[in-house]
Amino acid sequence: MENHAVDVKPQINSTTIMNPLDLDEFKRQGYKMIDFLTDYYRNVANYPVLSQVEPNYLRKRLPDSAPFDPQPIEAILQDVQQHIIPGISHWLSPNYFAYFPSSVSTAGFLGEMLSTGLGVVGFNWVASPAATELESIVMDWLGKELSLPETFLFSGKGGGVLLNTTCEAILCTLVAAREKVLSQVGKDKINKLVVYASDQTHSALEKAAKIAGINPKNVHAIKTKKSTSFALSPKSLLSTILIDVGNGLIPFFLCATVGTTATTAIDPIGPLCSVAKNFGIWVHVDAAYAGSACICPEFRIFIDGVEEVNSFSFNAHKWFFTNLCCCCLWVKDPSDLTNSLSTYPHFLRNKASDTKQVIDYKDWQITLSRKFNALKLWMVLRSYGIGNLRNYLRNHVKMAITFEEHVKLDNRFEIFTPRTFSLVCFRLKPSTIAHQLSNGTKAHKYGNDEYVKIVNKVNKELLELINGSGKVYMTHAFVAGAFVLRCAIGATLTEEKHVIMMWKLVQDKANFLLGNKLLKAPSLA
Ligand SMILES: *Cc1c(COP(=O)(O)O)cnc(C)c1O
Repeated sequence: MENHAVDVKPQINSTTIMNPLDLDEFKRQGYKMIDFLTDYYRNVANYPVLSQVEPNYLRKRLPDSAPFDPQPIEAILQDVQQHIIPGISHWLSPNYFAYFPSSVSTAGFLGEMLSTGLGVVGFNWVASPAATELESIVMDWLGKELSLPETFLFSGKGGGVLLNTTCEAILCTLVAAREKVLSQVGKDKINKLVVYASDQTHSALEKAAKIAGINPKNVHAIKTKKSTSFALSPKSLLSTILIDVGNGLIPFFLCATVGTTATTAIDPIGPLCSVAKNFGIWVHVDAAYAGSACICPEFRIFIDGVEEVNSFSFNAHKWFFTNLCCCCLWVKDPSDLTNSLSTYPHFLRNKASDTKQVIDYKDWQITLSRKFNALKLWMVLRSYGIGNLRNYLRNHVKMAITFEEHVKLDNRFEIFTPRTFSLVCFRLKPSTIAHQLSNGTKAHKYGNDEYVKIVNKVNKELLELINGSGKVYMTHAFVAGAFVLRCAIGATLTEEKHVIMMWKLVQDKANFLLGNKLLKAPSLA
């Protein structure tokens, strides 16, 4: 082979050279950034919670290309304030009630800062022993607080890992389960493998199945009902499995959810496992949001039966005061993960890995490089202590109960599904809307389907009015054909006064909608 290397002489302009990690500048700019964020947190309640910008707003405001010469932090921060902040939906606002919270804390922030500051890339043990060892210790600590059985802890031959998100936890466990079953039935059977979940399961499962090469026809979302609070029925699971087995398919993975995204429905883990184990199905529990609450003894019952499952995950970045990203995954048998995900290229070979005395977390996850995320979880656990963490969570639940009580007292509204944690699903009652319609037009003329559409449309308009105010932000769920408003309490800065203000706003917007708008001709657009 000819050598095509070209002799390139670096052309360095000495007037613009500066060290990208000049320590005086690091300190000066670092304090400036903390000042900036402190002011931001102090004022965040005054910004419109849901960003009100139009698509592509930012292109109109920023230059077409990157600057050639350096620019000072002051100018950059000024642009952040002027151009970036308007395009931020303020997840940390105390008036944020959308999706699920992205709860943060000083400890979580500082832990993230420390991890970034150290710049460690902890793919295997030797790359930074403390990163791996702290992670395994913190996962055992947290596993104990959740009362996970010993079999999920390192001391019991199981173990935990910090991934970035639940999507990754589901994908990794799905791939582990796939490899396990294929090693028994033969690689050529991949098209026959079946995944089970309820129709309330997060779309993360569908995506994971796509990536893992599961036949899309074999991802079975089993129907749930409002009357049973959208929980997956073990009976329905069994009958679906029996039909599949009869058709020559191979059941292999069940994703049960504790605290679904739409309504925080809870799949009964124990009874589902009783069904699954007869067919050798891997059971994963996705407790992305609600898992946190299980550090409180009164909520632990919702993961009863967890000793039977293969894997369990929750997001510490959702409702556990640990800044994004931080998903905690435990498995009973780590070799299931490593059998399917490990690689050992020459450049990573080292004595410690060769002896198999150490954990190489790269083999528990999708990516090679990984941040030292254990630092922030460790800092959260130490800075607040389990006692305070429980109090924070209970306080959010208490505020959700307050909100729920207000909703119940206004008989124009209904609680759509019973509240379990800090999410309240509610809407304007169909009867309220029917009553309002009959005052003006002829409600009785509307057929059932049309009537349901009107009820949904009015509730959607209510949500748009609420969010359009910029004062609070809430999102919706569409379940059992119904459009419902979701009020998720759990932003770190939220206090009861914010909840009361939010409820007054909901009532104001409902008054406006029912009083003015609907009495005129309700059109079915
Ligand atoms: C939020 C959520 C997810 C997705 O979490 P990511 O960390 O964003 O992947 C999955 N499942 C449930 C039940 C959730 O609430």
